[in-house]
Amino acid sequence: MKKISRRGFLAAAGLSVAALALTACGGSASSVASSAAASSVAGSAAASAGAAGDLATVVAGKLTMATNATFPPYEMTTDSGEIEGIDVDTAKAIAEKLGLELQIDDMDFDAALLSVQQGKADIVMAGVTVTDERKAVMDFSDSYATGIQSIIVPNDSDIASPDDLAGKKIGTQRGTTGYIYCSDDFGEDSVVAYDNGLTAVQALNNGQVDAVVIDDAPAKEYVAANPGLKVLDTSYAEEDYAIGMAKGSALEDAVNKALEELKADGTLQSIVDKYINAN
Ligand code: GLN
Repeated sequence: MKKISRRGFLAAAGLSVAALALTACGGSASSVASSAAASSVAGSAAASAGAAGDLATVVAGKLTMATNATFPPYEMTTDSGEIEGIDVDTAKAIAEKLGLELQIDDMDFDAALLSVQQGKADIVMAGVTVTDERKAVMDFSDSYATGIQSIIVPNDSDIASPDDLAGKKIGTQRGTTGYIYCSDDFGEDSVVAYDNGLTAVQALNNGQVDAVVIDDAPAKEYVAANPGLKVLDTSYAEEDYAIGMAKGSALEDAVNKALEELKADGTLQSIVDKYINAN
């Protein structure tokens, strides 16, 4: 239980997952962004930046974003097959500032993290939590949102707090902080790693696991769509979301600059309002 007590439990009621870190401080407009765009148009970005594989797509005028579109409201697939959500709109706004066209590659969450490390995508936006382990293998932008690990259980469950997960089967998404925390705290044998949040929640509905540990915003969406399930008021951990990039990515400064501007001018908040506060 050491991890749990170190992080402490959070009363979900008092903490909105939409609570953005609105700490941006003005800053001069788009000089970094426009120079990044200009150099990509000129095709000289790779030479000037010297980063590994991460500029190939930028040079082609595209910003490639790896994601996992089963994580509402950050990224989800509409009935017509469109991918939308907070991360998608934010990435579009960043790409626009960089003079690039956003291209979205949908894959499993663990593959999305690997994709930027291998230079196959420029950025990963998938409600990605910043952790020390990930910082060892990839770079992160400034944080753009707070995430909370929450616990979904059936309405009649005897699980009422994170401690009660001991001895239970816990469903998680492969490669996520939920999986890592639960394996550390309760042992790998207690944790089942599913491809994504949807399959984890289906397993809970089918009685194959006793609880699902997943980020709070998708937890609320999944519970709203699945009568018979509820999110516990006591959460498991609080985290920061950021944009992941390859180690040493030449995009990092331009992405941070764009993020700062989107925070300062209210764009980021209006994107969050569109997908969360409006519900
Ligand atoms: N925030 C969690 C993590 O980074 C889960 C993200 C996700 O499942 N898309 O591990």
